[in-house]
Amino acid sequence: MSDDRRRAELAANLQLVRERIERACVAAGRSPGSVTLTAVTKTYPASDVLLLAGLGVTDVGENKDQEAAGKAAQARAAGVRLRWHFVGQLQRNKARSVASYADVVESVDSLRLAAALDRAALAVRDRPLDVLVQVSLDGDPARGGAAGDDLWRVSDAVASSDGLRLGGVMAVAPRGWEPGRAFERLAELAGRIVATHPGATTVSAGMSGDLEEAIRHGATHVRIGTSLLGMRNSLR
Ligand SMILES: *Cc1c(COP(=O)(O)O)cnc(C)c1O
Repeated sequence: MSDDRRRAELAANLQLVRERIERACVAAGRSPGSVTLTAVTKTYPASDVLLLAGLGVTDVGENKDQEAAGKAAQARAAGVRLRWHFVGQLQRNKARSVASYADVVESVDSLRLAAALDRAALAVRDRPLDVLVQVSLDGDPARGGAAGDDLWRVSDAVASSDGLRLGGVMAVAPRGWEPGRAFERLAELAGRIVATHPGATTVSAGMSGDLEEAIRHGATHVRIGTSLLGMRNSLR
């Protein structure tokens, strides 16, 4: 597809997503400015990232280190400034790489990962790395996320790390759960964390299929892939 056609397609999708966000904010009595759109560009090329940036997108999300590092480098080379959110499961041996280009790591769910990222951030950055603690709402460890007391332990560890800044929480609605129920539960947990860590106000929740429910329950960031960029290859 030509760049012009792709730009027009992305612009139309972006318009629809922005309208959904706006309607959901109005329905919830919130200001549309209170929700940040993070475009999840995984599996799509750097050219799409640049087109989205040209259309006014400020935040992008990626879930694999190698792919993210390459796109961040290409954006930088093109003089495009974006906030890069890492949203995937992260191996500790990738912490240094991710800390070098990411502005936010949304998927911290263990003390070991928090410690590795802290060391990495202190080694490769000149300012702290924003971290969201990923919450497992159903306690199933397979999909990532901290549950139970681990949630408080990981949050406290991040908050007391010199290389990290606790920004808040992130979650994915568990399969088979009604999203409203999931995000209501997330809001409750987020409220408990912000009570001890007043700066941890970010609630990253809501994807293409459930952004309305997330906004209704206080999401400050929605992470949108499919509705913006199209269906991904099912193997990814
Ligand atoms: C892929 C992904 C998204 C985007 O999902 P869509 O349903 O395509 O909007 C959001 N969050 C995370 C953690 C993801 O991995």
